[in-house]
Amino acid sequence: MAEARGTGRTAVVTGASSGIGAATVRALAAAGFDTVAGARRVERCEELAREVGGRALPLDVTDAASVAAFAEAVGDVAVVVHSAGGALGTDKVEDADPEGWAQMYATNVIGLTRVHRALLPAVRRSGNGHVVVLGSIAGFEVYPGGSGYTAAKHAVRAVVKTMRQELLGEPIRVTEVAPGMVQTEFSVVRLGSEEAAAKVYEGVTPLTAEDIADVIAFAVTRPAHVDLDHVVVRPVQQADAAHVHRRS
Ligand code: NAP
Repeated sequence: MAEARGTGRTAVVTGASSGIGAATVRALAAAGFDTVAGARRVERCEELAREVGGRALPLDVTDAASVAAFAEAVGDVAVVVHSAGGALGTDKVEDADPEGWAQMYATNVIGLTRVHRALLPAVRRSGNGHVVVLGSIAGFEVYPGGSGYTAAKHAVRAVVKTMRQELLGEPIRVTEVAPGMVQTEFSVVRLGSEEAAAKVYEGVTPLTAEDIADVIAFAVTRPAHVDLDHVVVRPVQQADAAHVHRRS
């Protein structure tokens, strides 16, 4: 039997101004959670908060002071969904841009750990916590031009598996959701234009942000003893990070 829906429990979503994070706020609000949406573009989070009846707070996961202020304002929380993240560029290893790599690491890996650390005391106090991390198939597969991002998401995978071991014995579930291609602003941010992003999905029916939010809502509404550990979700047309079937 599914756990009582989210009634009265607070769920925080980082990276909630767009894509998977925004869809997750909607899905968790629909499941009865009090939601807190955080991102740098807080005006988008505020609009979303008005829509679902939740809260919105500014958050830059690469900025320690921003994360501290965010955690302070959040207060009690039982569920944290770490969706803030993304990719920059498609350089080959031989052309790697160190600044882009550092930024991807700062957002996807250190940002995750910084927010986790800031919110964990409150998650612990909830007595039935859940940490959900947006990993990726890039966390265990590679593809040409993807190394900066796959290196960061492989690190996310390592951090999440370590969290799972370190939190063992506490009533805190840890779930990594690892999607393949999801059509969001991800490719626009990565490639710098709508046109370049559109090509990524040419001839493919990609996953939607709602497909992933659905999986997250399912995971957090299972009974407290059930941990969906590592959930891989791909479009039917994607066998792995390097093999995509495109309709001609
Ligand atoms: P998206 O539409 O570009 O959303 C990314 C979100 O991350 C935005 O809300 C953005 O908000 C936030 N963000 C970026 N830097 C941030 C920072 N420094 N502080 C706080 N928030 C920050 O992309 P998405 O597809 O929803 O991506 C969500 C997660 O899923 C990411 O971790 C991504 O790596 C992962 N993922 C995506 C795909 C895919 O194909 N789309 C596949 C696998 C995994 P602001 O810019 O407003 O701060």
